[in-house]
Amino acid sequence: MNGTTIEKKSLLKDNRDSDYILEVNDLKKHFPIKAGFLQKTVGSIKAVDGLSFKVKKGETIGLVGESGCGKSTAGRTLIRLYEPTSGEIIFKGRNISNIGEGELRRSVRKDIQMVFQDPYASLNPRKTLKSILSEPMITHNLYGSKERQEKIQDLLDKVGFNPLFINRYPHEFSGGQRQRIGIARALALNPDMIIADEPVSALDVSIQAQIINLMEDLQEELDLTYVFISHDLSVVRHISDRVGVMYLGKIMEFASKKDLYEEPLHPYTQALMSAVPVPKRKGAQARERIILKGDLPSPANPPQGCVFHTRCPAATPMCSEQIPSFKEVKKDHFVACHLY
Ligand code: SF4
Repeated sequence: MNGTTIEKKSLLKDNRDSDYILEVNDLKKHFPIKAGFLQKTVGSIKAVDGLSFKVKKGETIGLVGESGCGKSTAGRTLIRLYEPTSGEIIFKGRNISNIGEGELRRSVRKDIQMVFQDPYASLNPRKTLKSILSEPMITHNLYGSKERQEKIQDLLDKVGFNPLFINRYPHEFSGGQRQRIGIARALALNPDMIIADEPVSALDVSIQAQIINLMEDLQEELDLTYVFISHDLSVVRHISDRVGVMYLGKIMEFASKKDLYEEPLHPYTQALMSAVPVPKRKGAQARERIILKGDLPSPANPPQGCVFHTRCPAATPMCSEQIPSFKEVKKDHFVACHLY
């Protein structure tokens, strides 16, 4: 990715638990499958099936995986747009997985905001930029009208927007500008954390770089924490400090960006990495492409044992029977695989 890379504050050295702004423990989100005249529950889609990870304040966690792996559902469940089926979401030391809607709105929705893939779909086409940015502040009863006005000017400035555009409607902006509005709206309540769900997937590559650089600038300036969800390994590599690789609702591998991209351990991560083109430069080694057989199984009927065994080139008979535990096989490098 081109563009200026901002040196991010490194908050990764200290491992004390107080540094974690978010802890996710065995989080599950299963959607019931209903059938028949009485709409009985006949099964469930295990979209998220036991996620555990921790996020340090000020860092960016990338969640990456193929479409259908559950990463977007995970993002929405973290912010309680979907109710978790089970598990814990500890945000700033408090379990928010089961607090009531009123309390959620008062204390959590302000602190965790979401940026969506399709900024056009997430912006009300009948509202001007000014009312889109005012709305969260009015809903949360923040600021008087004069301060709100100043805050809007500040938000526009932060995302590099001309203040003269304030009375325009979403359809008058380009895709990149609309994503800037989405980001400005997410910042309106001064959040600690932003969950960004494929925020640049719908944009041209040159615009993607601008938005990623903007997000990095804002992170530096505002000490933001990001959970960045994407199917694009290159984008995730650029922005993340640590990365979790998801497959069928589970994290297969979780490690620092450097460890994960330079020495992937899980057979699924190795297959994903083998598909990423290696830049042509002196000393760069071409990777052998690992072609996975078969399709992604249905999350309504995931394979027994290791969920990846039906496609894994290294599978053994044990893999179809026993679920591999998610364990730390090197310092801060977690893998769910019987090979380790
Ligand atoms: Fe492959 Fe077995 Fe490891 Fe699963 S547990 S990734 S099937 S080797």
